[in-house]
Amino acid sequence: MTAARPAVAEAKRIVVKVGSSSISGANTGQIAPLVDALAAAHARGVEVILVSSGAIATGMPYLHLDARPNDLATQQAAAAVGQNLLMVRYQDSLDRYGLTAAQVLLTAGDLEHSTPRSNAQRAIDRLLGLRILPIVNENDTVATHEIRFGDNDRLAALVAELVGADLLVLLSDVDALYTRPPHEPGAERIDEVAADDELERVEIGEAGAAGVGTGGAATKVASAKLAARQGTPVVLTSTANVRRALDGDAVGTWFHASSLD
Ligand code: GLU
Repeated sequence: MTAARPAVAEAKRIVVKVGSSSISGANTGQIAPLVDALAAAHARGVEVILVSSGAIATGMPYLHLDARPNDLATQQAAAAVGQNLLMVRYQDSLDRYGLTAAQVLLTAGDLEHSTPRSNAQRAIDRLLGLRILPIVNENDTVATHEIRFGDNDRLAALVAELVGADLLVLLSDVDALYTRPPHEPGAERIDEVAADDELERVEIGEAGAAGVGTGGAATKVASAKLAARQGTPVVLTSTANVRRALDGDAVGTWFHASSLD
């Protein structure tokens, strides 16, 4: 493979993060092409970990909800219903490749305390050794507003650190980071972000209030910077570009990692 980004071609362990709006509701059909891309990376020997949101969004129709609930108990109930269905949908799609998914639900506290942290690390390592695809989400039924990761973009950066990932691929609805919200005049696409770039030139808009997820450009940039500081380079691009991102094509925005030595 001649990749525009050799670091992608060389990556042995990759964390991919996908958000609720990309894989639920009208976009449920995007699960199959996402799985196609993950299976292709897996087939060339890469260890892939998927961080997937979408439990609440997938559960909403079963609770007869048209919009994301605001209260914690209903969010937890929707997540409990939706997480199960989300895993069924991933497994159905993975069956096409004879691959097996494993559900890994974590809380912020699990990653902060050494015993649950090393338990999670050991279990994920074992799953990867068994060539199983770990699918990580926040353990929503026990997470409260106070102790949440904040959003799954942050969870993805923390998981990348936990597993010592060589690459983090953050997927969103937008193909790259822009200097201002991409629909605004004058917005310029950013191809690369240096490790010491604090992105002061970037104006980030509000996350869409009507969305089913919680993140937006701000949480993606914060997560990308966190992972890059920890030594993991990041590609930020759209879910539609996942295949090309994993093939090492120069899609989206590349966040250079800080060198840790
Ligand atoms: N864990 C939540 C879910 O799966 C979403 C968190 C987020 O949107 O970042 O629905």
